[in-house]
Amino acid sequence: MRRMGRSIFGKAPARAWRNKTNGSVGRAAQRPTTRYRVIYKIGYTFPQMRNSTASRTLNVRRRLLPRTARPFTTLFVVACGTVALLLSLPQTALAAPKEEKPLLVYSIDVEGGQATLFVAPSGASLLVDAGWPGNDGRDAARIQKAMQNAGITTIDHLLVTHFHDDHVGGVPQLLKLVSVGEFLDHGVNREDSDATRANFAAYEAAIQGKTRRIVHPGDTIDLSGVSAVVLAADGEHIAAVKGAKPQPNPFCAEEKKWAEDPSENARSVGILVSYGKFRLLDLGDLTGAKEVALVCPNNPIGIVDLYLATHHGMNLSNSASLVYAVHPRVAIINNGAHKAGSPEAWQTIHSSPGLEDLWQLHTAEDSDAAHNSAVDLIANPAGMPTDGAYLKVSASSNGGFTVTNSRTRQTSMYFRK
Ligand SMILES: [Zn+2]
Repeated sequence: MRRMGRSIFGKAPARAWRNKTNGSVGRAAQRPTTRYRVIYKIGYTFPQMRNSTASRTLNVRRRLLPRTARPFTTLFVVACGTVALLLSLPQTALAAPKEEKPLLVYSIDVEGGQATLFVAPSGASLLVDAGWPGNDGRDAARIQKAMQNAGITTIDHLLVTHFHDDHVGGVPQLLKLVSVGEFLDHGVNREDSDATRANFAAYEAAIQGKTRRIVHPGDTIDLSGVSAVVLAADGEHIAAVKGAKPQPNPFCAEEKKWAEDPSENARSVGILVSYGKFRLLDLGDLTGAKEVALVCPNNPIGIVDLYLATHHGMNLSNSASLVYAVHPRVAIINNGAHKAGSPEAWQTIHSSPGLEDLWQLHTAEDSDAAHNSAVDLIANPAGMPTDGAYLKVSASSNGGFTVTNSRTRQTSMYFRK
C-alpha cells in the first residue's frame, strides 16, 4: 500500500518525484539532476519528455560552453534551447496525455444502512440503496453531497437491494431532491412483517408512474463501459458469470452450517461491478446460507479488488467461504457506530488472504480496539465530530484504485498488480 502524494494508477514506482510546478508526479523516472530544471516550467507534463528529451539536450549544450561565459549565456542558451525544442516538437507531443477518467464509488455514511454511489467515466450513475427514512432527510442530503462531489445532478439507476428500512427507507426523501432514471429491485416483498410491508408500500407509492425494472440473477445494469452483473436476487443466484468458468472453492469444506433466513435480507440483490480489470462486490445484506449457496461448491465470482462487506459487516453474513474465495485486496464496512461491524465478521474479513486494508465508515463502538481498524481507515471515528464523512474509491480500468477518506482527505493507493 502506498499513502499520499502519488496520483497515478501504474505499478508501484521504484522512485517517484513531484513536479513542483504543476504538481504532476513522474513515476519510473528519476529526479533529474541538471541545473536547468527551469525547462519544466514551460509545462511539460509527462515524464519521458522531462527526463530524456529536455534535460539531455540542455546538458549537451552546457558542456560546449566556456566556463567564463556561463553566467550570461546560461539564460540565453536556455531560452534558445527552449524555443528550438518547442519548434522541433510536433504539437501533439506538447499536449498533455489524455488521462483516463476513473470509475468513482462512494460509500456514503448512512449510519448503518447502505447508500453506495457508482459514477462511471461517462457520467452514468448507479445508486445502490438510499439509506434510512426520517432524520430530516439526512441520508438524502448525504447522497446529494456525494453526487455533487462526482459532478452529477441526477441518478440514472437506483437499485434497491431489499425492502428493509436502512436500504429502501430513504427513497421517498431522495426523490424530493433528485430525479432518478429507473428503479431496480427484486420484485415484491415476501417478508412477513408489518414494518417491511410498510417500507415496501412507501417505496411503491414513491415510485408510482416511474420506470421500474425487476432484476434477476444474470441481468446486467449498463453504465457505458462499467457493468454491474446481478449475482443474486429474490433468493436465487447465478451459477456462472458470463465469460468466467466457476472454480472449485477450497474454503467450502471448513464452512459452518448457516441458518436459513426467511427475511428480506436473504432476497437481497447482489451485484458484481466491473470496469476493465477492476472488480467490486456488493451483496447487500445477503445472509450466510445464501452466501454459501452462491460460492459453494464452485465460486462463480472469481476474485475481486474491493469487497463491500455484506450486511454492514454483521456476523449473520461474511462467511469465510465467500470472503476468502473472492480474495479482496481492500474491504469497506458500511457500519454505524452502534450497528454491525461485528467482531466475528471483522475478523473474518481482516484475516482474508491477500487483504491489504479494511476500511470502516464508523468505529464499531460496541466492539473492541482489536476488532476495529486504525483511525486513519475510519471515516467517522468515535469521539470525533464528523458530519457523515464518506469513503471515495477512484478506480482505473487497469485494476489500480485509490480510497480517499473524506474526513482526513488522505488517499491510499493500491497499484495495479
Ligand atoms: Zn442493512
